Amino acid sequence: MRVLVVGGAGYIGSHTARKLAATGHDVVVYDNLSAGHRDAVAKLPLVEGDLLETDRLTASMQQHKIEAVIHFAAFALVGESVTNPAKYYQNNITGTLSLLDAMRAADVPRIVFSSTCATYGIPASSPIDESFPQSPVNPYGFTKLAIEHALQDYAHAYGMSFAALRYFNAAGASPDGDIGEDHSPESHLIPLVLQVALGQRKSISIFGDDYPTPDKTCIRDYIHVDDLADAHLAAMEQITPENCLKLNLGTGRGVSVLEIIEACRDVTGHEIPTEMAPRREGDPPALVANPTQAHTILGWQPKYLDVRETIETAWRWHQSHPQGYAK
Ligand code: UDP
Repeated sequence: MRVLVVGGAGYIGSHTARKLAATGHDVVVYDNLSAGHRDAVAKLPLVEGDLLETDRLTASMQQHKIEAVIHFAAFALVGESVTNPAKYYQNNITGTLSLLDAMRAADVPRIVFSSTCATYGIPASSPIDESFPQSPVNPYGFTKLAIEHALQDYAHAYGMSFAALRYFNAAGASPDGDIGEDHSPESHLIPLVLQVALGQRKSISIFGDDYPTPDKTCIRDYIHVDDLADAHLAAMEQITPENCLKLNLGTGRGVSVLEIIEACRDVTGHEIPTEMAPRREGDPPALVANPTQAHTILGWQPKYLDVRETIETAWRWHQSHPQGYAK
């Protein structure tokens, strides 16, 4: 298929763009490079443009005879969405509606959309399946849920096909060490812990040790970025107007903050000092996927079920790129 990967120079986008190209799809990356990196897609055609530039999007789709869009271009920091909601509403909602307008203008019938477990808010229990109520507790989660609704309505009215893939915690890097995670500023647990191992920071703060979990720290479901990429390919190939999908993507295994730090110690051989810090606002105690539907419907199984293996791929990337893409 000819695929426009919007936000394709970012972390999950670049891993997916690479997989698409490796499996014979024709890929064009569309990215404003506000958070993405040109080097992450060095071998692929790149259109530099913004989500709000509807005409540029339409022209790119027409010029490259695009058949499907995979859309990653979103801001995704919960805390920032609380302090600067305008940025999130403008890009994640208005920007995505602009993308959908361009798809209609260029007659592109299918889209795979990055949604999130943050649409579930604070779930009553874990693991979470797709029938759980969606009541986000921050603007980030709300912007993603709003687009899930828009996709449903657009599919009904305009005959589009969509998949909304609700990611849990994306982690890891391409196993060859070529591309990986590079956020600025970095806020995610695994890259921050690995920065301690690299000597770039003194210790890792543990945000809360009074949660109702076995070791009192937060539990998350860390899914390897290449496994996420595989699920996008499968979803893109499967959706039809009658068969739109809303699926959780996770491993189904919960790992606590302390367990992540211990696994990073094993992988890096570094002692990794810790310090206790208050809870981070808006962090639910546990977010673990029930990924059964993705297994059944997509025939997809994550290859990385042991978080140590995921961390090993991240560590390879961080060692070879200690300053990220800036080298
Ligand atoms: N976390 C932490 N210290 C940090 C960064 C994160 O204890 O310096 C915790 C955070 O509270 C959460 C988990 O690690 O429980 C994963 O956080 P991350 O920001 O990586 O992903 P999120 O769950 O917000 O998508």
